[in-house]
Amino acid sequence: MAKIAFIGLGNMGGPMAANLAKAQHQVTAFDLSSSAVDAAVEKGARKAASAAEAVKGAEVIVTMLPAGKHVREVYEKDVLPNVAKGALLIDCSTIDVDSARHVGALAEKAGLEMVDAPVSGGVGGATAGTLTFMVGGGDAAFAKAKPILEKMGKNIVHAGASGNGQAAKICNNMILGISMIAVSEGFMLAKRLGLDAQKLFDVASTSSGQCWALTTYCPVPGPVPTSPANNGYKPGFAASLMVKDLTLAQDAANAAGAATPLGKHAQEIYKAFDAAGNGGVDFSGIIQHVRSLAGK
Ligand code: NAD
Repeated sequence: MAKIAFIGLGNMGGPMAANLAKAQHQVTAFDLSSSAVDAAVEKGARKAASAAEAVKGAEVIVTMLPAGKHVREVYEKDVLPNVAKGALLIDCSTIDVDSARHVGALAEKAGLEMVDAPVSGGVGGATAGTLTFMVGGGDAAFAKAKPILEKMGKNIVHAGASGNGQAAKICNNMILGISMIAVSEGFMLAKRLGLDAQKLFDVASTSSGQCWALTTYCPVPGPVPTSPANNGYKPGFAASLMVKDLTLAQDAANAAGAATPLGKHAQEIYKAFDAAGNGGVDFSGIIQHVRSLAGK
């Protein structure tokens, strides 16, 4: 079993580190929050006093941090100056493609193997060990990372070279953000037209309007009993995180010269929802915003 340094023990990193410890890996954990470290220790990890201390002697380093600037900083200050030769680097944070490729290039220059491996599946998937990993990096690095990722997730997809894991993640989430608004508009129009929500669901879920936002995560209560709409729109996947991912998608589209007009509009709609104090609401709660746009 591997000696693993785990840095970033928040909502996602905490349960992911716990699953690695449960699989008998020797996990050394660090977070700026000491209560997050204490929680990881309770789940079988060892405590490190700093990121540098966690990294020293580790065979695998996993990071699960908020954004690109945190990953750049931790890599430049703590990981790369202290990492042992031959160690494998895995960044699971959702960050901009440029930052992912930047740290990937620094790792390569230092003769280290690295993958970007952002996840989908949320806190539920992190806790159950059923996350999907979208992995960018070379074949050898992917082959080494796969057995470690399998202790935290169920679907491990090699998306191509460095940064392509992040690219896959933001393209997927842009589709999701747009399609959730589309489904919400469909239900709100149906309501105004006197069409029952269940009837629309019965038709659209077996017709060409079918999509994940409708059939798994339906934004009206009733048709899909497990969707957050039946639970007061508790996340799930918070609207603030959808804003983050749609913003990453817009930044990437602008840098790459791709046209994403609906992605841009979806970002504006989610930003308005977030700014109105709904950042902690599940992203499917956007249906309330769509309803409010129609007035009374
Ligand atoms: P979080 O804010 O709960 O956790 C981030 C942790 O990183 C915090 O505990 C913070 O103290 C720690 N941290 C920040 N800077 C640090 C540093 N320099 N050194 C050590 N620790 C540091 O966030 P989260 O919900 O766990 O999300 C982590 C990443 O996963 C984000 O990139 C997010 O976009 C992505 N993600 C989240 C979800 C979700 O549903 N929460 C789903 C998919 C992907």
